[in-house]
Amino acid sequence: MRLLVINYHYLRYKNKKFLASSGVGDKIFRDQLIELKKYYTPINFSEYKKISSSKKQDDDRYVIVTFDDGLKDCLTKVIPIAKKLKFPITFFAPGLPLEKQKVLTIQKIHLLLEKEKVESLAKNFYQGLKKLKKPIKRNKLKNLGIKGVYRYDTGLIRKFKLDLNYLLPYDVRDKIINKIFKRYYPDEKRLARQLYLSIHDLKKILKSGFEIGGHSYTHSMLSRLTPRKQEEEIEKNRKILDKITSESLPFSIPFGHIGTFNNTTKRLLKKYNFFNLVTTERKLNIDNYNQYDISRFDVNDVFSGSKLKKVL
Ligand SMILES: [Zn+2]
Repeated sequence: MRLLVINYHYLRYKNKKFLASSGVGDKIFRDQLIELKKYYTPINFSEYKKISSSKKQDDDRYVIVTFDDGLKDCLTKVIPIAKKLKFPITFFAPGLPLEKQKVLTIQKIHLLLEKEKVESLAKNFYQGLKKLKKPIKRNKLKNLGIKGVYRYDTGLIRKFKLDLNYLLPYDVRDKIINKIFKRYYPDEKRLARQLYLSIHDLKKILKSGFEIGGHSYTHSMLSRLTPRKQEEEIEKNRKILDKITSESLPFSIPFGHIGTFNNTTKRLLKKYNFFNLVTTERKLNIDNYNQYDISRFDVNDVFSGSKLKKVL
């Protein structure tokens, strides 16, 4: 049995107000789903759990399409297209935007990059860091067990990306990013409401037959946190999702590559009623019956335009 899992974040925003630069366009997305249907049976994770429990070894090909980060266009754009094509989709929503209407740092950075070139943002960032006048203890990449990140970047850009995601303490990073962010986006709550799904939206999504799942509370790298903090990330996410459903749900690991989660993560997911763990290890799942190790591709890995690069 083969399971192909493909991840998206958002479809391209037409009004160019935000997040206009990346993401797949509506029409291409629709054509991609049509293309997938030619070769795969589309299912969701709950169905996969049932199917894979029989541990059948056959040539059946399944596909699961997911959207990470719980962005608004899942409801306004993705679902109308998927509904028409009767294509199931799983939406993973982080807790903080749902509960407090705050923009996650990861999206703040994307939004800032709409306003400033990466070089200039990096310069601003390091000026801010200098102004803190605090000794800063950076993580060591080796200790995190993470290899080969940002291979294609060099110099300042690579340093900046590493600092943002892996090396700087989160409170230091967030303090500086928040300051720069406020300059461009003074009304964070309003923006968060435009940008993210609400609890009400997720209820609607579930009601119309689509699957939802967890994606942590603040979208932090779980392996960087102490077990207690990690538990908080998963527990708080679950508590908010409990307002929508008490069913066991799938969970997408923030970032998701090897080294961004650990055995504690798996233990905690079981404890808080998440029935699986989806990574971004770009691999096809062949006769993989381990629910806590499901690999997933990015849409750009498998598609060029609306054509599959290869039928896996
Ligand atoms: Zn994410």
